[in-house]
Formats: sequence, structure tokens, C-alpha cells
Amino acid sequence: MKARVTEVESFPVSIPFRIPFVIASGAYLNNAEYILVKVETAGGAVGWGESSPMPAFSKESQEDVHRTLLKKIQPAVVGGNLEHVQELLDKVSLAAPGSPYARAGVELALRDAYARMQGVPLYTTLGGKKQEKAEAVWPIGLGPNRFLEEQVKWARNHGFKEVKLKVGHEPKKDLERIGIARELMGRAAEIRIDANQGYSERDAFYVAGRLDGVHIFEQPVAREKLDVLRRLRGASKARLMVDESCYSPADALDVVKAEAADIINIKIMKAGGLGPSSDIQSISAASGVPNCLGSMLETGIATAAGVHFYVSSRNIGLRTEIVGPLFLEEDVVRGLSIGGGALSVPSGNGIGVQVVESKVKEFSQKKHD
Ligand SMILES: [Mg+2]
Repeated sequence: MKARVTEVESFPVSIPFRIPFVIASGAYLNNAEYILVKVETAGGAVGWGESSPMPAFSKESQEDVHRTLLKKIQPAVVGGNLEHVQELLDKVSLAAPGSPYARAGVELALRDAYARMQGVPLYTTLGGKKQEKAEAVWPIGLGPNRFLEEQVKWARNHGFKEVKLKVGHEPKKDLERIGIARELMGRAAEIRIDANQGYSERDAFYVAGRLDGVHIFEQPVAREKLDVLRRLRGASKARLMVDESCYSPADALDVVKAEAADIINIKIMKAGGLGPSSDIQSISAASGVPNCLGSMLETGIATAAGVHFYVSSRNIGLRTEIVGPLFLEEDVVRGLSIGGGALSVPSGNGIGVQVVESKVKEFSQKKHD
């Protein structure tokens, strides 16, 4: 049987970051310590996926993901029939329910291989594309004002119409940084801020009432404080977006029931892949809550999958944050186009980009083997 899955490989990679990224809950490492996943069928169909855990944000580490992929997911998937891709994805969910990052890695690889086997782009399997491009926002980590100024100027000069500032340490300084960004971007530009749960309730209300020129205020307080978030919505000059409060579809239900958000930020990694991301989208849409597509600063593999998801989505109108490849010294794919503050849908079957296997090997660490 040509569609029989014969291999699920896990490549732990370490790719240096070009730009430092510090958020209120911790600093990103010097290197992107991710896992790239390759699946293969007996008929020679190949698919690539990615898992991008980051200790500052995710509960899983690179080692956790690698172990889960090899010990739990590989045995559940190898030998299965890729023609029945949903059946395989259900098996993955059962095999590793508590490991969304690991599940996302293999899910993307299986979906890529499935679309390639069918001879269609990934977006075709997701309902078709509604647009050719995904406009993006440029994220800027915490740091000295000089770094902020450099980053805002860079974003402006490279066609970005919106920046996202990481905040969440000191309210007064954060408001000052917002002022600097506004000045440099120009009044027509948009600004969103993300506190990554860093504020106390008091600080969050202080900042929320003073947000001139900011249109989104993301995750001001701890993820479980849904009641505080609901009250903040009434006090905030910007729309309130949750991120850490919503990993899974079940979290999305809690958030909408608590009326805790104006916007829910979906990330393919924390949700556990495109399937659960789509479930979150359905719950949000049914509740009248729009979505954003966020990022774990992924490589070109998950970024390409993200573009396909974005252009076929039905509830995401805001600019996406999937610009991870621009943060890396080097990417592992060819054929991904990010320019003028937007990503183009890669042409070609599956995720539409070509994975450069020599680069994957170059960045692979053998220490986990
Ligand atoms: Mg966030």
C-alpha cells in the first residue's frame, strides 16, 4: 500500500537567532531549539512539520517534544494509512493528549504529506484560499529604548504598517515605549502591546486606561484570571486579546463563556496543530470573537503552514505575527516570500516550500540520539 506511513523522524535543531527576543515571562534562548519532523510513505510521499517549543512560553521543551514524538507518536502513526489522515490525527491526539507542541509537529508533517500525495496545496485541503497574501505585524521584544527605536525604524522601512511591543514589566516605562513607537511609526500606523501575563491587576488597569494609539492589549494578567480580564475589557481603551489564556479548544470555551476577551490569539503550536486551531476558530466565530494568528517565531516550515491556514481562515482579519524566519540567522526552506510587511502564499503542493535537507542536518544536534 503506497499510502502506508513508513517513517516519522524527529530532528532536534538549533538555529541562532539574529534578533534577541525577551518577553515578560522570560527571554528566548540564543538559538531556536526546535524539532523538525519528517514523515514518509511507502509510495515516496514526504511531508515536513515543525514543533517550536520555547521555555519562556511553552510547557514543553525541545527534549520533551523529541521524546514524545519517538516514544508515543511514532508507534501510533507508523504503519497507518495516510489516505485516512484524520484517523491518523485522532491516533496522535490519543497517544499524546498532554503534548500539544509535539502533536503540532507531526500533525503539520502528516497534513503536508497528505496534500502532496493528493497533488494539491495545503490550503486546498483546508477549504481553499480567500486571499494571496497575509499581512504581518512586526514583534519587538523587551529591551532598552535604543533597541526599540532601531526595531521600529527597521519595521517601518521594511513595509510593516503595525508593530507589536512586548510590555509587562514596568507600566510607566511601557507607556513611554509606546509613545516612542507611535512617534517613529507615524500616527497612521497601528500598535498592539503584549504583556505576557506580566502585570498585576492594578498595573493592568493603570495601563489599560492610558492606551492612546494602541488598538490591541494582549494578555495583561495571568492566564487563569478570566474575571479580571472580563472587567479589564470594560476599562481598556484598546481591545483585549488573550493568548496564554487559550491553548486549546476547551480553553477557548472557558474564555468565551467568561466573556474574557475581545480577540483570541491562536497559535498552531500551543493548540496542537491546524485541527485544534480550526476548532478554536469555530468556537470563537460562533461567539462573535475574532481571532489573530500568532507565532512562536517558527522556521519556514511552520510559517508556510501558517500562511496556508491564514489565507483559508474564516475568522482571522487581523495582521498575523508569523514572521519567525526573519528572526533566524538562516532558514531551512526555500520558496517562502516575506516582503513589504506581508507573506505570500507559497506556490506548490503541500506547504509549498522546499525543505533544504542539508540545512536540517547542519542544524541538527545529535546529542539527543
Ligand atoms: Mg502573546
